[in-house]
Amino acid sequence: MLEKKNLTCIGCPMSCQLKLTAVDGEIHDITGYNCKRGEDYARQEYLNPCRMVSTTVACPTGLWPRLPVKTTEAVPKAKVLEVARVLHNVEIEAPVKMGQIILQDVAGTGVTVIASRSLPCSDNPGAISK
Ligand code: SF4
Repeated sequence: MLEKKNLTCIGCPMSCQLKLTAVDGEIHDITGYNCKRGEDYARQEYLNPCRMVSTTVACPTGLWPRLPVKTTEAVPKAKVLEVARVLHNVEIEAPVKMGQIILQDVAGTGVTVIASRSLPCSDNPGAISK
C-alpha cells in the first residue's frame, strides 16, 4: 500500500515542508528537508512519533495547589494520554525544587518526570527561592 505524508519539520524556525512516501510500511522517499535533522524527524514521525509532555500534579501542601511538571524526553505519541492520566493521580509533598524527580518510568515508558519549577510549602513560602 502506498502512503504519502506531509509534515512540517519542527527542528528550527525554517519549518521545512517534508514529504514522505512509504510503501507497505517501509519508507521509500523523504523530500523537502534542508538538513539531516529534517530527514530524521520525518523518519521518526512515521515510524515512532514521540512528544514531550508538560502538565501539572497535585501539591496540596504547596503555596499553589498544582506543580508544573514535564518529561525529560519525548514519549511515544500513543502513550501521551496514559502518561497524562498517571500524572493526574500523582500527589506530591511541598517543598519541591525545580528539576526534582517526580516520577520515574512513567507509564512504563522509561521516561522520567521532573518539576518544571520550585514550589515552597504554603506555611513557609520563603523556604525556596524560585
Ligand atoms: S529540515 Fe533542517 S533546516 Fe529545515 S526546518 Fe528542519 S531543522 Fe530546520
